[in-house]
Amino acid sequence: MTYRETAQLLSFNDISFVFFPPPSYLGPVVEQIASITANCRRCIVLTGAGMSAESGVPTFRGKDGLWGKFRPEELATMEAFIANPKIVWEWYNWRRELMSRVEPNPGHHAITRLESLCDDFTLITQNVDNLHRVAGTQRILELHGNIHRNKCVDCNKPCDPSLEIHPDAIPTCESCGGKIRPDVVWFGEMLDPQVINRAFQESEKADIFFSVGTSAVIHPAASLPPIAKRSGATLVEVNVEETPISFMADFHVVARSGEFLPLLVEELEKQKTSS
Ligand SMILES: [Zn+2]
Repeated sequence: MTYRETAQLLSFNDISFVFFPPPSYLGPVVEQIASITANCRRCIVLTGAGMSAESGVPTFRGKDGLWGKFRPEELATMEAFIANPKIVWEWYNWRRELMSRVEPNPGHHAITRLESLCDDFTLITQNVDNLHRVAGTQRILELHGNIHRNKCVDCNKPCDPSLEIHPDAIPTCESCGGKIRPDVVWFGEMLDPQVINRAFQESEKADIFFSVGTSAVIHPAASLPPIAKRSGATLVEVNVEETPISFMADFHVVARSGEFLPLLVEELEKQKTSS
């Protein structure tokens, strides 16, 4: 039976099964990418929603449950916060609670090991779930913020992330008295210019750039892989689907990050110890 036939057999309702090549099939490409990585000084990894999905981070787009009738676009905005900060905080407290039960997957842990093997490493992530930090990665640029951090709605001053937020009595900024909000980029908001500028600079200097589990359609993050490629980096895409950058990638590895990255790091460790 072919993969396609098996997939058809096992697909029902709205659940679709994606099949992946077995690890043995990945062997030659893993060796090749590991030897290129071993000779690179500056390594960048960009991660997106696919990475979080492998850990089971909810998308908050379902119709069921307590908050099913709301779409993220209705609650994750400045307008919503100004109009009804209580409901926005109730929603974020619920999301934080759900996310606190989620754990890093083998892909997150492999990225932490990759960082320790590289002279110059930066992780750029579109994910707000904090899983890279939980996994121990040190040098991180969080393009869309971090759902576990807080800041002032007026002056952007960061505030204690351990602060418990009661939606009926939202704490205020000690500097300006503004209400405290989650430190994530909301719909219609600009990314932090310092963070995105550093992401551009690092991408320009990259020798190797891994684009992992990102659909590569949301700008400005989607511009980073082409920038690295144009500046001479080897571009490796790890994604179960084709994306707008697949055609320019030196390698498009059709695999889950939790499957490919541990193999890559294992091979890289082997090559580094034998050299
Ligand atoms: Zn303030």
